[in-house]
Amino acid sequence: MRAAVIGGGIAGFCAAIALGRIGADVEVYERASSIREIGAGLSLWPNATYALRELGLLGPCLRAASRVRRIRLKDPGGREWACVEVTGGETPALCLGRPALLSALLSAVDPRRIHVGRRCEGVSLEPGGEGLLRAHFESGGAPAFDLIVGADGLGSVVRGFVTGRVERPAYRGYMIWRGVAPLMPSPYAEGDITEAWGQGERFGIMPIGDGKVCWYATRSQPESAAPLSRAEILDHFRGWHAPIAEVLAATPDSALVRTPALDRPTTWRWARGRAVLVGDAAHPMTPNLGQGTCLAVEDALALSLLLGRRGSIEAALRRYEEQRRVRAAAIVLAARWIGRFAQSEGWAARLSRGSLPRALLSGGIERAFHAIHGCRAGA
Ligand SMILES: Cc1cc2nc3c(=O)[nH]c(=O)nc-3n(C[C@H](O)[C@H](O)[C@H](O)COP(=O)(O)OP(=O)(O)OC[C@H]3O[C@@H](n4cnc5c(N)ncnc54)[C@H](O)[C@@H]3O)c2cc1C
Repeated sequence: MRAAVIGGGIAGFCAAIALGRIGADVEVYERASSIREIGAGLSLWPNATYALRELGLLGPCLRAASRVRRIRLKDPGGREWACVEVTGGETPALCLGRPALLSALLSAVDPRRIHVGRRCEGVSLEPGGEGLLRAHFESGGAPAFDLIVGADGLGSVVRGFVTGRVERPAYRGYMIWRGVAPLMPSPYAEGDITEAWGQGERFGIMPIGDGKVCWYATRSQPESAAPLSRAEILDHFRGWHAPIAEVLAATPDSALVRTPALDRPTTWRWARGRAVLVGDAAHPMTPNLGQGTCLAVEDALALSLLLGRRGSIEAALRRYEEQRRVRAAAIVLAARWIGRFAQSEGWAARLSRGSLPRALLSGGIERAFHAIHGCRAGA
């Protein structure tokens, strides 16, 4: 099977590795002139580390990551209103830098199969080609493939071919800033993640290995509002619990990334003929559950297991769509609602004032996490 993966991000490389394991001949096409991950760090929950293990990728990720043991939810002053234990699964919860994850994936891909500076403009069905598809590139050429995997993220071109629609991503009302600081204060060194909720704003810190923490700050505002500098963020969160000011002060300006909270209406159509979607191309979501990359790894494993069985490519893609879409849609919606709830001034204030018992909140969140993190893709 000759396969093209459109998009050289985390989803694209996971898909390329997974398809390579079932003997596919895979080419990866990336529009940028080099392969790189911008952004700070990310969490990989046990559903993702299970899929990474099945793909033979957990070892290199473990070496680059911090293990996560608990999530502590706080008010701006540091009073804890919930604490969620995340240990005990078959595979660990991890946090690591995005570049570290990307380089772990790249070490498993033949560099001769990665084509940079190749923006895909569209996909077409080869007339009389028994299902063969062509990928059309801006720089010229339209090679034919047995399978095209759209791993081209939020603005996916392949999604347009698969769904027949081009919808704009929806802004969910808040902006997110992220950064990496070269320090590891004590609760983070022991595997804690913290997230503090204020009025329409949040601040989270997580350890990402290599003696560094990654932080994120959110703020409800119009999409068109002027970007904040690091000094303005520092000013804004001054007075919040330690070590927020210290972490912000230690962050180089060059390590600051601003991202609007975006997602898209969920699509039930993930495949058309021999074209299929993985990662953000299929299910872009707001980052409130830290599941975007996790689901991309699950997608890659599930897709390769189904394609590795006897039967046509089209039938395998239909089964993949059926297997994946309900779970992904539920997580996209849950992430959207958590964002709405966490950014809403009334609820955040009520939780921070301790109007609900800590044990009840911690237990409820823990049960919800177990349901999401317990998935074993393809099993
Ligand atoms: C603030 C924030 C925090 C997050 N935290 C977490 C977390 O903790 N845990 C987690 O699991 N997820 C997290 N996510 C989600 C995660 O970042 C995404 O789900 C993940 O990066 C998606 O990977 P992807 O490869 O599908 O898409 P992308 O990373 O967008 O990659 C798509 C690639 O395709 C290329 N491309 C696009 N169009 C074309 C084209 N036409 N032709 C060729 N190439 C093309 C792009 O250049 C890019 O390299 C977070 C997201 C945000 C915004």
